[in-house]
Amino acid sequence: MMKANESGFEGTPEEGPGWDVSDEMAAALLKDVLVPGDAVGHEAGDVVGPYVLVSVLGEGGFGKVWLAEQVEPIQRRVALKILKLGMDTLEVMARFERERQTLALMDHPNIARVLDAGASAEGRPYFVMELVEGVALTRYCLEKAVPLEGRLRLMQGVCAGVQHAHLKGIIHRDLKPSNVLVTEVDGVAVPKIIDFGIAKATTTDRVNELLMVTRFGHLMGTPIYMSPEQADASGDIDTRSDVYALGALMYEVVAGRPPFDAETLQLAGEGEMRRIIREVEPVAPSRWTEGGRGAGEVRLNWRLERSRARDLDLITLRALEKYRERRYQSASQMGEDIERFLNREAIVARAPSAGYVMRRWVRRHWVMSLGVGSCAAALVLGGMATYWQKRKAEAALGMMASVLSETDTISYVRLQKMREVLALAARQMEGLSEVERLRLHTGIGKAYWGLREWETAVDHLAKAVEIAKKVKVAPRAIQELLELRVLCLLGGGRGEEAVVLVEKMLPVYEAELLPDDPAKLFLATVHAKALRAAGRPKESVAAFEALFARLKTWPSEPDPVDVVNAHLSYPIALRQAGEGERALVEARQNIRMAKRMLGAVDLHHARALVLAANECREAGLEEEAHGYLDLGWRYYADDLGALHHSTQEAKAALVGLKKELGKVEEAVQVQRDTVSLCEEEVGDVAEETLYEREVLVRVLKEAGRDAEAREVAEASVAALDGHDGGGASGRREWVRRFRGYLEPAAGKER
Ligand code: ADP
Ligand code: MG
Repeated sequence: MMKANESGFEGTPEEGPGWDVSDEMAAALLKDVLVPGDAVGHEAGDVVGPYVLVSVLGEGGFGKVWLAEQVEPIQRRVALKILKLGMDTLEVMARFERERQTLALMDHPNIARVLDAGASAEGRPYFVMELVEGVALTRYCLEKAVPLEGRLRLMQGVCAGVQHAHLKGIIHRDLKPSNVLVTEVDGVAVPKIIDFGIAKATTTDRVNELLMVTRFGHLMGTPIYMSPEQADASGDIDTRSDVYALGALMYEVVAGRPPFDAETLQLAGEGEMRRIIREVEPVAPSRWTEGGRGAGEVRLNWRLERSRARDLDLITLRALEKYRERRYQSASQMGEDIERFLNREAIVARAPSAGYVMRRWVRRHWVMSLGVGSCAAALVLGGMATYWQKRKAEAALGMMASVLSETDTISYVRLQKMREVLALAARQMEGLSEVERLRLHTGIGKAYWGLREWETAVDHLAKAVEIAKKVKVAPRAIQELLELRVLCLLGGGRGEEAVVLVEKMLPVYEAELLPDDPAKLFLATVHAKALRAAGRPKESVAAFEALFARLKTWPSEPDPVDVVNAHLSYPIALRQAGEGERALVEARQNIRMAKRMLGAVDLHHARALVLAANECREAGLEEEAHGYLDLGWRYYADDLGALHHSTQEAKAALVGLKKELGKVEEAVQVQRDTVSLCEEEVGDVAEETLYEREVLVRVLKEAGRDAEAREVAEASVAALDGHDGGGASGRREWVRRFRGYLEPAAGKER
């Protein structure tokens, strides 16, 4: 049965389990593992307590599970798990007794009840559970080829069961596919969670926690489903650790593979394993499905529209966030988001902090709207048509007000579509109350800020400030409007004006806000940036450094978003102050910081990548720049859509760099990807798509692939011909342009 090396103590003793374990603990571990006496096995027909063993259902890391029959006081079939040695029977029993009352409160169709516990004649603890006739969740999905919707329904059931237990105060701690069995009740698949309450009884102190990890690492594959806080073995576990495990389960159910490669984890050694769990971000699950762009060997047979796949990724990755504060805060929240997904409603995972007020919106998004302007972006925006259907003014205003004031994340495409409504709203403000006008001017200003139309944004914000002063809103609300105004000034390249305004606001903030109000950090960051924009890089560097010092002694834990924002532009200031080398070091560090603090899929990480790529280019490190940009562009495209100016800029830079580096094939591929993203987002005869198609034609021609270039041009003309709708003159212009690419070659053929 269990041999000494199965405990994970392989090789020389110095290698140990790779954890930071004191001698005392190691001794305790060894004692636990090496208790002799597991020579006793059981056979069918053996009697354990009031149960008769019938047959073995399965074997796990902790023991064997038997199908058993109970005769007294009621006749029934149960599952009986006899623990292996290595468990202190008395302690396990004592812990179980403490839990028994709580466990009895659990009553849910998705949870298999724990019925009883005891010690066998040999003195080993056993647990008696409701018998579930079914197979592990992942195996069930695979064998029955359950379609995506069915899989998500199963996950919802699992979430419901977990939520029920959490409400009763019970954390599972060991959710994984083999602990979720699927059984069929009247032909309907029902997931049932087993082992609830058992992990708690068998592992509470740190030593046992370590032991569990060691055993998992060694005997039962890898702790793929274990949350970072569990892997840390600090004992600081709460219900959100189960939410993480639900995320890992969902990942496997959706992608057909776990979030981490079991083999990699296994080979990693325990220190590295722990690091992976804590730091490595799993690949978005959609990358493994047919619609995904990654090279997955196991391709699942569904293909979702891009935005749907993205939503599914967001739900899964949200639950898998490294920091539990950023996860769904409960299993039911996750279940509800799955429900929204199935109903094609907007999911909550999309808006990390929905419901927050404007300043939160600004703090999250300002990073994206400030950037170096580029011709590509200007071209795209300049040629942009409007798609927004004409609506009744009030309906449009109502919708706008709600979208602008309540949505945390407004997609760029949606903003684009709102242009017409924005203009309409701006014209139709007569007859509205002052408060309504204040809201609209603020919202419209914000929207134009998002669209990078700084002057228009400043106009609306100025009007908003005027009304706000008249109706005497809270000083804080006025400050927020001024903050937005500063950002617009910065965006419009009016650095000196921004500095003046910020320097007026700084003392007021210091005097009036609470010591740890994040607005202070925000404004200090804006100040440092404004100094740079005003052509005062040395002062900017000094301001950044003062800010970092301040962050270290901040009276409370600063929001990671603020910390990362504070650092992102520092490298640019350094370089402009003549410290190019340090700029590069800091830029690389920013990537790691953003990823660690906010997660890989967060826009700040993408931004850090793109900014670092800039610094690398400045330093002549083209290959490194390319690596960052390749990643950053994909994150932008996934999150902001292909049409966002940041995506556009990153894409343009990436295609250019790929060409420079002779990666022509890849340049073509990126451009092709962009075209298909645009087709999905706005349709194949939309202005943006046509623009990107034209770029593709040019890239192909430059690569000497004239035949393909012609194909694209021809397809575009055909699409435009076949399309009957408005905008005939614009269409004619595009047809003319694409024909232009066909002419010389077409002439030759005829
Ligand atoms: P693990 O869950 O780590 O695989 P366990 O010791 O918990 O190990 O269980 C071993 C196997 O026994 C499970 O994979 C499952 O197939 C089976 N099993 C456990 N509990 C039950 C149950 N209540 N009803 C039916 N089968 C069960
Ligand atoms: Mg189990």
